[in-house]
Amino acid sequence: MSESDKRGIITAQARRVGHALQWAREWGRLQMDALRLRLQTKTPHEALVEMTNRCNLNCPFCMVGRQNDLTATHGNAAHSLMKRRMGVMSPETFERVRAELKRFGIRNAYLYFQGEPFLNVNTIPFAAQLKKDGLFVAIYTNGQAFSGNMIQELAEAEIDLIRFSVDGASEETYQKNRVGGKFAAVYENMRLVVEAHRGKRTRIEWQFIAMQNNEHEVEAARLLAGKIGILFFVKGFRESVPALAPTKAEYAPNFIPKPCTDIYRHLGIYWNGDVVPCCYDNDAVEVMGNVMENSLKKIWRSARYRQFRTAVKNVRVDPGHEPELCRTCLRWR
Ligand code: SF4
Repeated sequence: MSESDKRGIITAQARRVGHALQWAREWGRLQMDALRLRLQTKTPHEALVEMTNRCNLNCPFCMVGRQNDLTATHGNAAHSLMKRRMGVMSPETFERVRAELKRFGIRNAYLYFQGEPFLNVNTIPFAAQLKKDGLFVAIYTNGQAFSGNMIQELAEAEIDLIRFSVDGASEETYQKNRVGGKFAAVYENMRLVVEAHRGKRTRIEWQFIAMQNNEHEVEAARLLAGKIGILFFVKGFRESVPALAPTKAEYAPNFIPKPCTDIYRHLGIYWNGDVVPCCYDNDAVEVMGNVMENSLKKIWRSARYRQFRTAVKNVRVDPGHEPELCRTCLRWR
């Protein structure tokens, strides 16, 4: 066979592979679109229920507070850039929220949004109640606010998931990211929480957000987690502060092509009962209603919520009307 014949065969094979890849990509896109259409008929089954928007730490990457700037100018900044009012979910608001979660068909309750959930003294009783109601219940925490009998009471509630956000394996690195916290304190609290849950079904996790200043400690953290028997995982840093992005490609976050479908999966309820459509709405940009005034069903069907869903859904064909909130999204691109 001549050289030119060989080249011809190789070119034909490359062309066939190219077509196959193109076909696979197109097929994947069509599948994704079909899935989107199915999701767009659903109502959310998950709710982020904010116990409080107060926090005990000053984390520099916090999307709400831009803590570094504020700490530099004012000395202390825990969430003070947030424009909405600070507060704590009251038992009255919780009872209303609880009734609405059931009525609307929410199956998973995540008792956090902004702030540190355990700063609300009622978080554990609220969690226990929702668990009794038959919901999947999860709490994400910085792990610094445990005191007295809290760990024992938490274990008695036997919720489904407790996730600790701990971004370092040494005091020095941890305190750069969780400003105001102590690594020794959170490590001891994780150990105690794991101990108290022995024999229970609760999943207890250590989430490590990999950033430029801590990615060298991932393996040390994994070892420390193994020592106390907590499940460990690394999460890619969503670049709320680009300068903190990790250098290793394996820690880069995955982005999903728009249009977003998260709004059919979850909604958020602030401590005061305000309902927002997405976990990135930290500062009441898209308040759809308040559960103290209207049912979740009525809020979901409101003109404002419908318009928001339409604008999110039509982002490819009508990008000019994409909600402002979504233009800086750290999950969908
Ligand atoms: S901000 Fe992002 S996650 Fe939230 S609704 Fe918009 S696209 Fe979806």
